[in-house]
Amino acid sequence: MKIYLVGGAVRDKLLGLPVKEQDYVVVGATPNEMLDMGFRQVGKEFPVFLHPKTNEEYALARMERKVKPGYKGFTFDTSPRVTLEEDLVRRDLTINAMAIDPDTGSLIDPYHGKQDLDHKILKHVSPAFAEDPVRILRLGRFYARYAHLGFTVAPITIELMRDMVKAGEVDALVAERVWKELERALSEQNPEKFFEVLDECGALAKLFPGLDVKGTGMQALIAAAESSNSPAIRFSALLHDLPDPRKSIIALCNRYRVPNDYRELALLTAQHFQAALDFKTLSADEILNLLGTLDYFRREERFYKFLAAVKAIDASRRKKLFKSFKTVDASDEFDPRHLIEAAQVSKQESAKQIREFIAQGIEGRELAEKIRKTRLEIIENFFAGQGQNMHK
Ligand code: ATP
Repeated sequence: MKIYLVGGAVRDKLLGLPVKEQDYVVVGATPNEMLDMGFRQVGKEFPVFLHPKTNEEYALARMERKVKPGYKGFTFDTSPRVTLEEDLVRRDLTINAMAIDPDTGSLIDPYHGKQDLDHKILKHVSPAFAEDPVRILRLGRFYARYAHLGFTVAPITIELMRDMVKAGEVDALVAERVWKELERALSEQNPEKFFEVLDECGALAKLFPGLDVKGTGMQALIAAAESSNSPAIRFSALLHDLPDPRKSIIALCNRYRVPNDYRELALLTAQHFQAALDFKTLSADEILNLLGTLDYFRREERFYKFLAAVKAIDASRRKKLFKSFKTVDASDEFDPRHLIEAAQVSKQESAKQIREFIAQGIEGRELAEKIRKTRLEIIENFFAGQGQNMHK
């Protein structure tokens, strides 16, 4: 029996990047031998074992074969005769298909992953890549992660992915996998690269209809990725300008069972970014309405995320203007400080009065009206103090 370090850990070690988790492949062992050594078995479709002390993953070397369509259509052979090379060939990218022998530290690299790493190329290991459409998404995600290092996608892999898309492979993707890969791609350094690859192979229009790699949404995503690590903020910036945004966002979120916090922030951003950008032209009444619609008084954190998305949208628009005219007026840059302060004082200063109203037994509609009136006055006073001209 022989154990090898494989996958992302080998890749990241060679790239000089921090290694997140170490996965191992075990050649020449049976499940019973693993259990006898104290490993705990996990994994439903094929046996994976957790080390009794480190909890790291040890998988028996396996071969896989596609027998029917869909992501469950694989059979696995995990017999002790399966070799390391046979295990590595079923992997997605050559840079993910290397192994290190922990005893000697030597690299086992039958598919020339090191060479592709040196040349900064993302390339499939074998034609079997075409058997699993998740690999298209994974490749896009790695591109989003490593593009800033100079990585590109091998033209031959783009070709293969085009064929996969033509053959209808991406139609077989299950919602959860798409969302999982999308969320991870959104967290990478250049999330827009994920969509570029999908576009190049024809998968974008199928998976994310309405998204345009050259569109304003993509520019906003780029700006959001520069200013925030939050995948929800990036997601909202990306979707703010879809055609018929409300309908499109709901359709996309339903299709991929996108979590509610993403959906809500994306909807609020698409529907209200313009009002936020124009807040200086709004009356106190309209500002209070905006804060109410954004549910600021109960969901303050989300309000700040909304503003971060709006700031990214503004930054991307200004960048575009700069490209066209070589100059932009810095004084009209979106600066939400006064909006935030107005929101905060209206919340804080109204709190005491609200308690008093309640103590006086005021309730229902009357209470709601009194709260509104109180907050409105606070906002009016705030902006009067700031010398802002409010349109009445
Ligand atoms: P990350 O840094 O994102 O965790 P990783 O490469 O470690 O990257 P995992 O999802 O943990 O990613 O997968 C571990 C290894 O398993 C990969 O390096 C790759 O060799 C292989 N692998 C994972 N998913 C697939 C797949 N769908 N098709 C082929 N090989 C895969």
